[in-house]
Amino acid sequence: MARYTGSVCRLCRREGLKLFLKGQRCYTEKCAIERREYAPGQHGQGRTKLSDYGAQLREKQKVKRLYGLLERQFRGSFHKAERVKGVTGEQMLLRLERRLDNMVYRFGFANSRSEARQLVLHGHFHVNGKKVTIPSYLTDAGDQVSVRDKSRQMMRIQESLEAVERRGVPTWLELEKEKMSGTVKTLPAREELTLPMQEQLIVELYSK
Ligand code: SF4
Repeated sequence: MARYTGSVCRLCRREGLKLFLKGQRCYTEKCAIERREYAPGQHGQGRTKLSDYGAQLREKQKVKRLYGLLERQFRGSFHKAERVKGVTGEQMLLRLERRLDNMVYRFGFANSRSEARQLVLHGHFHVNGKKVTIPSYLTDAGDQVSVRDKSRQMMRIQESLEAVERRGVPTWLELEKEKMSGTVKTLPAREELTLPMQEQLIVELYSK
């Protein structure tokens, strides 16, 4: 499966925002955006005024990179959200939040969404007692996500769980740390997604 293999810190610097793509390092003074708060490249410190199209494109890139998707997968999420009743932009964000790799990250079983994606692919998680290896699997309210018995000794998962206090578990999730299990209490409301995202710009971009 295709994936981005370049520097992830460059992506944060391009978007001018911490996207928390590198696990624990994102919470230290080693974070690249803390040290160089301007876009990467030769013209990174130059003119920043964006056209309407430029602003829409940047917003789309930001959200796509935040959730660790490539263009085709991201556009696919948008088109599926279009077919659901409700505000398309919000439905798209909700779909992205419901993804199993995102939930694994949100619960703190992984330090980043890309790590969560890899752990899911390798079969370390159960949803409602059944092994699921599809990162895009959509969880629902009431679902239980747990670490598979055989994987509980994995240092990566244990260390991530130790570190989860620093970033916190969202209020719509309930983590039982000792059991290495969590429940999706409810699906998040738009206002509970606190990173700055202007989903309407993405809708405008894809509706052209
Ligand atoms: Fe982004 Fe994390 Fe790199 Fe900081 S350390 S620039 S938040 S990926």
